Amino acid sequence: MTALRYLKQVSTLRLNEDLCIGCGLCAQVCPHQVFTLENGKAGIIDLDACMECGACVNNCPSKAIEVHPGVG
Ligand code: SF4
Ligand code: SF4
Repeated sequence: MTALRYLKQVSTLRLNEDLCIGCGLCAQVCPHQVFTLENGKAGIIDLDACMECGACVNNCPSKAIEVHPGVG
């Protein structure tokens, strides 16, 4: 089965790796496996899978993530 996809390159998700403390919460709460955690930092591996739900933003303790729901 093909995973549900959204429009390409329109997600407003942004990650500031300098602020990331590597807690891994974003990867845990994201329902679409958008994040990976490598070498103590989060990374976006699948931007187009982001549905802008905001769960990662709400759980990130260091405000390293931004998303603006409804734009994409
Ligand atoms: S906004 Fe939602 S879908 Fe997008 S990366 Fe964050 S948790 Fe995942
Ligand atoms: S929740 Fe925030 S601080 Fe934690 S790994 Fe993700 S981006 Fe980094």
